[in-house]
Amino acid sequence: MLEVKDLKVAYGRVRAVKGISFSVEQGQVVTLVGTNGAGKTTTLKTISGLLQPESGEIWFDGRRIDGTPAHKILGLGLAHSPEGRKIFPRLTVEDNLKLGAFARRDRAGVAQDLERVYTLFDILRQRRTQPAGTFSGGEQQMLAIGRAMMSRPKLLMLDEPSMGLSPLMMQRIMSTITELQQEGVTILLVEQNAQAALSLADYGYVLEVGQVVLQDTGKSLLTDDKVRKAYLGED
Ligand code: ATP
Repeated sequence: MLEVKDLKVAYGRVRAVKGISFSVEQGQVVTLVGTNGAGKTTTLKTISGLLQPESGEIWFDGRRIDGTPAHKILGLGLAHSPEGRKIFPRLTVEDNLKLGAFARRDRAGVAQDLERVYTLFDILRQRRTQPAGTFSGGEQQMLAIGRAMMSRPKLLMLDEPSMGLSPLMMQRIMSTITELQQEGVTILLVEQNAQAALSLADYGYVLEVGQVVLQDTGKSLLTDDKVRKAYLGED
């Protein structure tokens, strides 16, 4: 469904992504893990059209999308829940969610998806008329995921959904990812918490300074000695 081929991305003269290739099959949860500065966020921003690649190709759903404007990429069914959440604090929860559907004209479908988000996250329903800025970190994260779902994406990219969350909240977010997969959403998950991400991913790629250094099923990477030492804090 998504294929990234030899992608290179630079900020001025600094190359942050140095030729990475990976793919995501329909229905899978695929994760990119790696430490700070490995190039994970840059990769997601390039896929969603917020950054332009230096070279390489990005294919989504049978078409080449590198060079396509971000709003068109969203319209093709590829949504991005960014790092740091980027919700609108003064707008209500419901208005934040509706913004995720701004490009859609099918009102009935939008209403249905709003209901689906509220079913997944009851706290959003309970507080739908409150300003989103009053939410805790974990609640804002749910809102950001909910908003991305409102475009009814075929593929949902989540950047560090567990960042700054309590262990309990993190578990909740991780089980939500599994629920979304069961509903048929394909997911590309970027995480620094390798343990959590690899536990639920079908397939994973380990990034180091802009390159893929290891790739395998989530399960195999979890038990890989190098991964355990470098990313899971074991010696
Ligand atoms: P993190 O989890 O810390 O966000 P990451 O794996 O997502 O890490 P990126 O944010 O993609 O990594 O950063 C990759 C490299 O690009 C880093 O060396 C970073 O300093 C650099 N970089 C990121 N954004 C910019 C920018 N706007 N201008 C210049 N360099 C940048």
